[in-house]
Amino acid sequence: MIVHKFGGASVKSAETVKNLSEIVKDFSGNIIIVISAMDKITNNLEELTQFYFDKNNNECYKVFLRIKNFHIEIINDLFIKKETILDKINLLFNKIEEKINSKPSEDYDYEYDQIVPFGELLSTKIISAYLNCMGISNLWTDIRKILITDNIYRDATIDFRLTENLFKEKFHFNNTSIYITQGFIGASENGKNTTLGREGSDYSASVLAYISNAEKVIIWKNVKGILTADPELYNESIKLDEISYEEAIELSYFGAKIIHPKTIKPLQNKKIPLFVKSFLKPEENGTVIKSILEPINLPPVIILKKQQVLVSISPVDFSFIVEENISKIFAVFAKFKIKANLTQNSAISFSACVDYVPDKFEKIVKILKKDFKVLYNMNVELITIRHYNEESVNKFVGNKKILVEQKSRHTARFVVE
Ligand code: ASP
Ligand code: MG
Repeated sequence: MIVHKFGGASVKSAETVKNLSEIVKDFSGNIIIVISAMDKITNNLEELTQFYFDKNNNECYKVFLRIKNFHIEIINDLFIKKETILDKINLLFNKIEEKINSKPSEDYDYEYDQIVPFGELLSTKIISAYLNCMGISNLWTDIRKILITDNIYRDATIDFRLTENLFKEKFHFNNTSIYITQGFIGASENGKNTTLGREGSDYSASVLAYISNAEKVIIWKNVKGILTADPELYNESIKLDEISYEEAIELSYFGAKIIHPKTIKPLQNKKIPLFVKSFLKPEENGTVIKSILEPINLPPVIILKKQQVLVSISPVDFSFIVEENISKIFAVFAKFKIKANLTQNSAISFSACVDYVPDKFEKIVKILKKDFKVLYNMNVELITIRHYNEESVNKFVGNKKILVEQKSRHTARFVVE
């Protein structure tokens, strides 16, 4: 069994879907293909959800039509005989329409999860039908009947036991089976849609690989593999041929946008290798993440997080920053799901570099100000260099103004203006 995952960029147009079919054509054995929503459709559906929630019917309907037309254009480019697929797709659009014509509840996260999963349902329906048309016979599977989660909407946790049982019940492999299914989404035990967090399709693929004891997972991306720097931000980057599970976890924890952070653990537990490959150059090797026991020498890897705020929090009475204070501060972060990307404390102040999320940030500052003095620097960046050396620090930090600096044996981190 091999589990493949195709993300939004690999299915962003009729052209890329055709490219996907060229790749899938050469597959053999038992295969599960996990697919994300096409292109930026998840963002569009988020926008739609917000308008729906705000009861802004006009704007909501506009976004709805934009999403619908996007998919219909792709269908027009892919299929000669369109009736069957259009019927299937229209069923889904009717459901979205029904939803947006109903009154929203007060729970934004719940509403989000009832709408946003349509991105994955649409993409998989279209791609499955297209592959069947091209003679690549496959079965479309609704992952919501298999991947069961709790009902923490937008950040659901998978019930592995239930999921494993349903997996065995619903998937039947006969040595040449191709199943197409959705990433990112699942359902609660009472049948409501849930999602696993943005970019969660990688994690879905990893969970299915874990449950099926897959031989490997392949994530198809628009880059050659895991690179030492984001090519959109830095013009020099090299591809890493192989890294350990631990290294991959560290890199994604620090914010490298390679794979969803939760992806690695299930694979590591069963020593299932994960390949990151380019859908544009499928013949190339890409990067493999696997169990590596001997330490390997890696070049400096740079990870940049933009739109950060550095918050400094100190007790108003100039008492020391102690455990109770720190736990109070973290409780506020946790409540608003704000991740402290870097923290540091002195005797009388605690600093954290966090993602700047406008609404949330104002709210946490307001709460913290009840007990603490709060200062902050907006618009800072967090630079992490794994396997740093002097040259890489000079190159990437250079003469930027450093607000916080932290170095461990393998990692140097800088909050800069
Ligand atoms: N479509 C979802 C997103 O864009 C899930 C994924 O792509 O992994 O976040
Ligand atoms: Mg995506």
